[in-house]
Amino acid sequence: MDFELPPPTQEYRRQIKRIIAETVTPADIDLQHETGTFNCPPLNRALAEHGLIERAVPGLGVGDPIELWVLFNELEKAAAPMDGLGVAVMIAGVVNHVGTESQKEQILPSILAGEALVCMGLSEPDHGSDLASVTTRAVRDGDGWVINGAKMWTTMAHEARWLVLLTRTDLDAPKHRGLTMFILPMDTPGITVEPVFTMGAERTNATFYDDVRVGDEWVLGEVDGGWQVLGVALAFERGVMGGTNPAVPLLRRLGAWARQAGVIDDPIARERMARVAIDNEVAALLTQRTASIAAKGGLPGLEGSMTKVFASEAYLKAAHWFQELAGPDGLLQLHEPGAAADGWIEADARHAPVTTIQGGTSEINRNNIAERHLGLPRSAGRQ
Ligand SMILES: Cc1cc2nc3c(=O)[nH]c(=O)nc-3n(C[C@H](O)[C@H](O)[C@H](O)COP(=O)(O)OP(=O)(O)OC[C@H]3O[C@@H](n4cnc5c(N)ncnc54)[C@H](O)[C@@H]3O)c2cc1C
Repeated sequence: MDFELPPPTQEYRRQIKRIIAETVTPADIDLQHETGTFNCPPLNRALAEHGLIERAVPGLGVGDPIELWVLFNELEKAAAPMDGLGVAVMIAGVVNHVGTESQKEQILPSILAGEALVCMGLSEPDHGSDLASVTTRAVRDGDGWVINGAKMWTTMAHEARWLVLLTRTDLDAPKHRGLTMFILPMDTPGITVEPVFTMGAERTNATFYDDVRVGDEWVLGEVDGGWQVLGVALAFERGVMGGTNPAVPLLRRLGAWARQAGVIDDPIARERMARVAIDNEVAALLTQRTASIAAKGGLPGLEGSMTKVFASEAYLKAAHWFQELAGPDGLLQLHEPGAAADGWIEADARHAPVTTIQGGTSEINRNNIAERHLGLPRSAGRQ
């Protein structure tokens, strides 16, 4: 099999690398760890100015289908702040897939210009894995809707222009069928945002909805068809939008430290570094397959689950191994004197567990693989 990318895609990769090198400074990377906001507005704008965001949006890209993967693969390898852009690109793909012409006109240009971020109000305090049970209510009121409820883990809500919100619209329907997705401006009256800081340094948010009034024009997809819209979003999210090669910068930083600390000849260190390098390659190939399906208009729900489980757990294993190798110096934090790899080992060791939870936990993804790929029975407790 020929893994060489076609010339236009190689050129796309070169352009992205150049823009990252010109735009993202070490200070930008530090800033995301200080603020917990994993986003870099100058980078988003620079990519947009060259048309590189549009090329990556599922269903909208003008280049080779694999460009979606190339963009996030390069950002991730460079450790560039990218979570904000990742969700925005994913939701641009969803809007392009199921949105009305008016939604496409209002929302897509702001995302493709690298200006607007999007947050996702899916999870609730009591319903994360079991999203079909969400209780945030949208009730018909004349021509529009009134929304009341609370969401948890609404990452980027404090920066986003747009909000994608999963609501319950029919209490009598089976739980997967009475849901409706909205996409609405974050400055709609009645929405409040409270910060939540995680052990992995990311800032996320709790969001509250008090008599939020919106018109029908903000329904995304069909009324009571929110579950289908969610399927589109998750298919793009899992294993496509980055989050699948974070051990690449970790290995680079570990390698530099191992050379400087004289650990590079240690057989255990060498074996672990080699194994992490192999896992990184496997994760890249799995992501490439998932992205290719998504960008060709498919919905790689199963392949995304496979990619996410493999990549996030390989990252967790790498961070754990490297922290063991570094000993006490691997416990020191970013830029602390004496910290192994300038503190990145410690930062990754805290960040890695979070990646096995956000975007769907490993257990839920394993269930998905077991049921849809291996044909095993549905797990206990699921309806
Ligand atoms: C940093 C971060 C950012 C996030 N960003 C967003 C965001 O922007 N928008 C958003 O909507 N959500 C977001 N999330 C939420 C994330 O998707 C959920 O945390 C995740 O889906 C798990 O839901 P939960 O936290 O409610 O845990 P629970 O669903 O309560 O799960 C608790 C434990 O039980 C296990 N479990 C649950 N059900 C089953 C089952 N059927 N079989 C086997 N095991 C099971 C889980 O795997 C987990 O180990 C974010 C989370 C984090 C940590």
